[in-house]
Amino acid sequence: MLTYQCDCGATLFFDSTHCVACGLDCGWCDSCRRIASVKVADGVKHCGNPDCGVVVFPCVSAVNWSACNALVGKEGNLCRSCVTTTDLPDLSQGMHLPRWRLLEEAKRRLIYDLDRLGIAWEINQPNLTFRFLADTPEEHVITGHENGVVTINLDEADPVAREKARQEFGEPQRTLIGHLRHEASHYLWQTHVQGRDEAACVRLFGDHNNPSYSEAMPAYYEQGPPDDWAEHFISAYASSHPWEDFAETAAFYLDMRSVVETVGQHFGRNNAPVGRQSCDTLLANYSEAGFGLNEVNRCLGLTDALPEVVSPPVVEKLRYIDSLLSRPVG
Ligand SMILES: [Zn+2]
Ligand SMILES: [Zn+2]
Ligand SMILES: [Zn+2]
Ligand SMILES: [Zn+2]
Repeated sequence: MLTYQCDCGATLFFDSTHCVACGLDCGWCDSCRRIASVKVADGVKHCGNPDCGVVVFPCVSAVNWSACNALVGKEGNLCRSCVTTTDLPDLSQGMHLPRWRLLEEAKRRLIYDLDRLGIAWEINQPNLTFRFLADTPEEHVITGHENGVVTINLDEADPVAREKARQEFGEPQRTLIGHLRHEASHYLWQTHVQGRDEAACVRLFGDHNNPSYSEAMPAYYEQGPPDDWAEHFISAYASSHPWEDFAETAAFYLDMRSVVETVGQHFGRNNAPVGRQSCDTLLANYSEAGFGLNEVNRCLGLTDALPEVVSPPVVEKLRYIDSLLSRPVG
């Protein structure tokens, strides 16, 4: 993620609400889409980005729940990320509020990813919306995507439960942003592939109708992935069905863009902006970053930051996704 600079010279981060050096308020300006300081003139707050300067108010989710750092143009409004959440857990219960905040924080990063790609998620049909829900005695909440609606079980924001699930499923990583990128990628299949580009997608990912999803998933959970999955897929789970392959590969593509943009700014690289890098250049920059970042994590006894190995068939799938997402949906 890019960082920004306060007027005092200190660094401001994507989630900053104030500058830790000079104390100035700041936030994510929904208008110019960057972190900016808040300037007050005649009692009115303005975005401190000199190229923007719009009148700003805190997102109402920041006012009510400290669950956002966005600045909006109208008092009492939700920002363009918070407004996509249609269903919340009961925030009076136990750990629901801090866990929901983590989900909103991860979602703001996903919205940033989609905006940087020029995905018109507010206009494309269906729109993209989110439900963050906790299990009840009557209902277990299943994380997934259906017709533009992403549902995430609040337990995923519990680090102990998430690590337990990661171990059970043998995953190298399990994160909130990873879940959101995966589920949003199912959404991207619907908006960009379904009824538009299915034949090309089937050639690379396989026929999503044969076997059907309802046949393939129980078989995957019973038999597990094929031994040689890494030669064809970005993850073991991607081998379960072509839809999951697309979602896992597109989520990796979003990871890759985010990592390359971050490394480009913070590791003294002189890369072109991510949006102007070819898929092959992105991959090369990602791989190079992986060597260094993984060694840093190993120095600290942490799991690899970038664990994926990208085989030639996966490169083909990534090139397809890169080309697909750069096309407008008309
Ligand atoms: Zn400052
Ligand atoms: Zn602004
Ligand atoms: Zn907000
Ligand atoms: Zn999925």
